[in-house]
Amino acid sequence: MSAATTRSRTPDRLCAEAVDLARAAAEEAAAPGVVGEHVEIVSEGDRVVTHFFECKEMGYRGWRWAVTVARASRAKLVTLDETVLLPGPDSLLAPEWVPWSERLRPGDLGPGDLLPTDAEDLRLEPGYTGEDEPPPNSPLSEEMAELVEAEDAEVSGVTPAGLLLAPMRGSIASVAEELGLRRARVLSRYGLHVAADRWEESYGPKTPMAQAAPAACVSCGFLNRIGGSLGQAFGVCANEFSPADGHVVSLAYGCGGHSEAAVMPAPPRPAPHVIDETRVDPFPLRPAADSGSVSEASDEAAAELGHS
Ligand code: SF4
Repeated sequence: MSAATTRSRTPDRLCAEAVDLARAAAEEAAAPGVVGEHVEIVSEGDRVVTHFFECKEMGYRGWRWAVTVARASRAKLVTLDETVLLPGPDSLLAPEWVPWSERLRPGDLGPGDLLPTDAEDLRLEPGYTGEDEPPPNSPLSEEMAELVEAEDAEVSGVTPAGLLLAPMRGSIASVAEELGLRRARVLSRYGLHVAADRWEESYGPKTPMAQAAPAACVSCGFLNRIGGSLGQAFGVCANEFSPADGHVVSLAYGCGGHSEAAVMPAPPRPAPHVIDETRVDPFPLRPAADSGSVSEASDEAAAELGHS
C-alpha cells in the first residue's frame, strides 16, 4: 500500500487546535505585524497539520505563512515542524525561469560576449578540415600521402628521390580552403533554410518596400553577389541610401534606390534674361505713318534717348 493512501484526510484534532503555537512560530519567522488572519488548515498526514496565515507583507500579495505542526503517536504535545512562506492560488509570481540559451534574442550579443554553440546545434554539421584520413583504396589516399610527404620534405629541406614537389596551391587542403570547406563545422541544410527564411522575412519580396519597388534587386547595380548555395537567392545591398544597405537581400527584394529606377534628368539650361540692361531698345513715340518711315522714327527715338 502506498504512503499516499495511508494518509489521513481528517486533520488531527490536537494539531488543528494548535493555532496559537503556529501563529507564534510564523510571527517569529516574519517581520512584526505581517502575519494576518488564520486562513485554513491542511492535513499533511497522520498527526501532521499545516496552518496557513495571510501574509500582509508588501510585495507578497496572495502569499501565505505555512506552519506545519506534528504530534507523536499517543503523545498529547504538539510540536513545531517547519515555518515557510508559500505562494497561494492568487499570489503574484515571477515568470517561469527560461534558460539563457532560449532567452537570447538577435542583437543581445554585445562586445566581449561569448556565445558557445551547442555541439548538437542543428544549424551546423561537420565540415572538412583536412585532418580526416582518406578512406582506404580511395584514389585520394595515395595523392594525399604524396602531398603530405612533399610538404614534409619542403619543410625539412630533403626532397625524396623521384618525387616532384607539388605546389601548395594544388593541395587538397588549399583547394578545400578556397572553397570555404576547411572548417570544423559548416551550415547544415536546416541551418541554410532557417537563415534563408529569416532573411526573406526582413528583406524579401513580400515586404511593403519590395512590393512598391520599381524593380527587383536581381537587376540592380548595387547588388553584390555572394558565394555558396545561398548566393542563388540572396546578395548584399551596397546602396548607402537604401534601407537594406549592408544587409543580405533576396534577389526578389527591391527598393526605390534601384540603380535603374529612373533616368536622372539633364540639368536645366537657364532661360535667357527677360530684361537686357546692357543695351538700349529703341521704341517709336508715335505710330509710323507708313511702313517706310518706321526705321526713321526709330532712329529719331534712339537719338532722343541718347541725348537724355
Ligand atoms: S538599392 Fe534597392 S534594389 Fe538595389 S540592391 Fe539595394 S535594396 Fe536591392
